[in-house]
Amino acid sequence: MADPKGFLTTGREVAETRPVAERVKDWNEVYVPGSLLPIISKQAGRCMDCGIPFCHNGCPLGNLIPEWNDYAYREDWSAASERLHATNNFPEFTGRLCPAPCESACVLGINQPPVTIKNVEVSIIDKAWDSGDVTPQPPERLSGKTVAVIGSGPAGLAAAQQLTRAGHTVAVYERADRIGGLLRYGIPEFKMEKVHINRRIEQMRAEGTKFRTEVEIGRDIDAAKLRRRYDAVVIAAGATVSRDLPVPGRELKGIHFAMEYLPLANKVQEGDFVAPPITAEGKHVVVIGGGDTGADCVGTAHRQGAASVTQLEIMPRPGEERNANQPWPTFPMLYKVTSAHEEGGERIYSVSTTHFEGDEDGNVQFLHLVEVEFKDGKLEQKPGTERKIPAQLVTLAMGFTGTDQSNGLVRQFGLELDERGNIARDADYATNVDGVFVAGDAGRGQSLIVWAIAEGRSAARGVDRYLTGASELPAPIRPTDRALTV
Ligand SMILES: Cc1cc2nc3c(=O)[nH]c(=O)nc-3n(C[C@H](O)[C@H](O)[C@H](O)COP(=O)(O)OP(=O)(O)OC[C@H]3O[C@@H](n4cnc5c(N)ncnc54)[C@H](O)[C@@H]3O)c2cc1C
Ligand code: SF4
Repeated sequence: MADPKGFLTTGREVAETRPVAERVKDWNEVYVPGSLLPIISKQAGRCMDCGIPFCHNGCPLGNLIPEWNDYAYREDWSAASERLHATNNFPEFTGRLCPAPCESACVLGINQPPVTIKNVEVSIIDKAWDSGDVTPQPPERLSGKTVAVIGSGPAGLAAAQQLTRAGHTVAVYERADRIGGLLRYGIPEFKMEKVHINRRIEQMRAEGTKFRTEVEIGRDIDAAKLRRRYDAVVIAAGATVSRDLPVPGRELKGIHFAMEYLPLANKVQEGDFVAPPITAEGKHVVVIGGGDTGADCVGTAHRQGAASVTQLEIMPRPGEERNANQPWPTFPMLYKVTSAHEEGGERIYSVSTTHFEGDEDGNVQFLHLVEVEFKDGKLEQKPGTERKIPAQLVTLAMGFTGTDQSNGLVRQFGLELDERGNIARDADYATNVDGVFVAGDAGRGQSLIVWAIAEGRSAARGVDRYLTGASELPAPIRPTDRALTV
């Protein structure tokens, strides 16, 4: 156990963020660099090393949280990093981006603020990179088997790293021009600077993983042909089809899916453009959708110099405390103030968009909305509450409907889909097609990075067993597991 009295003597402290006025002028991560390390050992010391650590179950990766809290408390960073990597290939991604369902399941959280597990995680991995502890781990011998991974988001990268380390020859195919999936194009720089992806890719290359960008399977390469060329295939193509809002005026200029808007801002940071082709500069911006993707649009619009930013959500505002339906240790739906919300803008709940209004040149100018309420389990409009708000840039961040079927990926393989439109799989992540597996959002539907990594690791075990008849790779999670988490 870290510090037997830590939870009694130390209060919860989290990473310090930079002043809003400073950080909206740049794209760097919002945290004060170096602010965590001086406090983190004491924070790790708050861990009670519970007999039954519910945090393990809260984390989809089954991270060994009390073990690395103990090492972090003792400042044995090298041992902490070894324990962290035992279950998580990329803790620098989750330590920055995970909503931390582990903290919702922390036993200390029953009657006190929980251990700041996510901050401990990111401190351990940042320290490990700084001290040179993260090195390539190439396999001792090769199996002679080949695997193609389709998609280079967290699921594809985790599967590829596990399979490469198990001795298989792995090539990752990515249709975008850079590796990383939504980590690269979607999640803004101020949430995670891309240097963290780049150095992992360097590590993976040094281990032997091959990367092929700008190759779309199902369009540039026939999927069935790919299957014949490789001994096994992992599909980690995400759930990239955005949900649309088919109301009058949707065709006006200035209304975009969030995933048309956000990647362009990422590309400016990569040096591809001087200015983004779609920008919020000087405009009244309305973001439709109250989730994380919407919050990323809000933070991006602030940095581009929007005149105003309004975020709309059809559901009522969540509460600030757990309610009876969401008891400890489940992950509750609570009112969240992200770093983007701290930076300004207005959030409007329980409203629905009825239509858009444009000017004579076809540019959107106003969004018309109406208040809604649940009546007998159905969402109904409240008469007399219609109004319009200025909207010169609208982003649609209302979720994703499933795997992209505009290319031949699903058809050429002959894949079965489940009732939600995701690629169907069994408990070993195998699809209906022999030797073809699926991991991450492509099989699960739009979810979280931590789930994508957990699924990539688990699918790798399924593939390894398929190729060799047995596997020593860990499988943290089965497709049907929902545990205590989101
Ligand atoms: C804007 C945004 C912000 C988010 N923020 C967070 C967050 O803060 N925390 C969190 O936990 N989760 C967040 N998420 C969710 C998280 O990013 C996803 O759940 C996660 O990235 C899924 O990983 P994946 O590997 O399954 O798919 P993806 O990351 O979507 O990667 C799939 C990749 O496959 C490629 N691809 C698709 N089809 C083909 C093909 N036919 N051939 C070749 N390549 C192909 C795509 O180009 C893409 O690069 C966010 C999502 C969005 C959209
Ligand atoms: S990956 Fe997420 S759930 Fe798991 S320990 Fe880290 S922050 Fe917690």
